[in-house]
This record gives sequence, structure tokens and C-alpha cells, in this order.
Amino acid sequence: MTNAFDLAGKTAVVTGANTGLGQAIAVALAQAGSAIVAVGRSGMDETERLCRDAGARFHSVKADLSSLEPIEQIVAESVAAGERIDILVNNAGIIRRADAISFTEKDWDDVMNVNLKTTFFLTQAIARRMIEDGRGGKIINIASLLSFQGGIRIPSYTASKSGLAGLTRLLACEWAAKGINVNAIAPGYFVTNNTEALRDDQKRSSEILARIPVGRWGNPADLGGAAVFLASSASDYVHGVVLPVDGGWLAR
Ligand code: NAD
Repeated sequence: MTNAFDLAGKTAVVTGANTGLGQAIAVALAQAGSAIVAVGRSGMDETERLCRDAGARFHSVKADLSSLEPIEQIVAESVAAGERIDILVNNAGIIRRADAISFTEKDWDDVMNVNLKTTFFLTQAIARRMIEDGRGGKIINIASLLSFQGGIRIPSYTASKSGLAGLTRLLACEWAAKGINVNAIAPGYFVTNNTEALRDDQKRSSEILARIPVGRWGNPADLGGAAVFLASSASDYVHGVVLPVDGGWLAR
């Protein structure tokens, strides 16, 4: 029987793969058989070791995604490493916390640039390749509960992740007939650098935990199954969804 979740022979580009959710997604895709091109600003040694332990080919591309400048180089290096790109995971993202009333233009622009602008133009560049080579592909955006909810003290983050959900739907509509599946994963509250400030705040941390039906924060590895599903042929008829992986948070 063929395995619809098998990624053997595929190449996946994962942004922000040096740590946290991006690293866990890269490892899950590697375990499913995909070669990994890890894109990010920092060293990828640990991710490389974990992916190679899973038997995957691995290549890293050093790039700062706060501007559009490295996009051409990312695409060229990724294609050189894998011949073609089958899967793109737009995971790199940042967050800035401050009251909306005093939020600065810099904290607005920095977050929007990484989370939305570069994500869109990198996706455009890679989708052009996927369309040109006629084999289609899988694009997975890492959204957030703030794609559905307002939150507090993170105005640019909420705007970027709500925007990313809309963009996921738009790109799905434009590219579905070209063989590209565009979907998103909305992680709940996961133990990573992104949530360190929340977890350090005892009051916020226990309020959050009390609302999660499964009764624990997510571990990055909890995202692996959703990522492999959306990267594989098992999801060939799935377009434009924002899939929550949140321990039941949104069901509450
Ligand atoms: P993290 O801070 O550990 O990881 C963020 C990643 O993005 C890092 O690899 C970092 O190097 C990379 N990155 C940030 N700015 C970059 C830049 N300018 N150039 C290149 N790389 C850059 O946090 P995480 O929780 O693993 O976050 C990963 C994604 O998941 C983000 O998009 C985040 O918004 C999203 N997310 C996280 C949670 C959570 O609970 N942790 C929940 C929902 C969504």
C-alpha cells in the first residue's frame, strides 16, 4: 500500500528552522523522508544534526528575512540543493509586546516585514518555480491563534497573523488549479522563545493554562503531524485552511 504521508524524494524549504516550531517541523518533514533546506539568521547545527539523524539530506541558507533582499539567493540555493522545491514552510516570525496606545512604528514595521511582507514575496518567488516546473507544490504558513482572535499588547503580531490567514486563502484560490496547495497551521500556546515572556508572567501563564482543554502547553513536536499532512499528498484536496493545533483552545 502506498503511504500518502511519504515525503521521500521531496525537498522542503523551512524558514526559521534553527529553533522552536521551525526546527520541529523540519525534523518531522525529514523523518517523513524529505530533504531539508533550512533558512535563517542563526546557526543551524542542531537542526542539521537532527535532520541528518533522520536520514535526510540537509542544506542551510543564511538569510535575514527582515527585508526582501535575500529572496533570490534563497531560491537559487534551494534549487541547487534539491533540484526543485516541493514544499515551503513559512515559519520565521517575530513578536513585539507593548500596549497599543504606545506601540511604536518600528515595532509595527519590524513585525510586518518578517511575518507578512517577506513571507509573501518569498512565497511568490518559490511558487513561480513550482508553477514553471509544472509539478505544483505545498505551501504551509505558520499562522497563530491571533489569526482568529484579538489578543492584547501585540497589535502588529495580530495584524500580521490575521493578514497571513487572509493571504493563505487568497493564494489558495489563485494557485489551487496550478497544483499548489496553500494552507496554514495555527499553533496554540507552545513552549518556545516566542512565548518566554508569557510563561515568565505567572498570572498570564496560569490563566492561559487554565483555558487549554488538554491542560498543557504544546511541545514543538506536537506540530509535526499537521505539517507532514499538509506537506504530503494526503492533503491534495485541502486548500486554504487554517488548521488549529492548539490543545482545544479555540473549541472552548
Ligand atoms: P522562535 O522565536 O523560537 O522562532 C522564530 C524563528 O524565526 C527563529 O528561527 C528565528 O531565527 C526566525 N526569525 C525571526 N526573525 C527572522 C529574520 N529576520 N530572519 C530570519 N529568521 C528570522 O519562536 P517560535 O515559537 O518557534 O515561532 C515560530 C513561528 O510560530 C512564528 O511565526 C510564530 O509567530 C509562530 N507561532 C508560535 C507560537 C508559540 O506558541 N510559540 C504560537 C503561534 C504561532
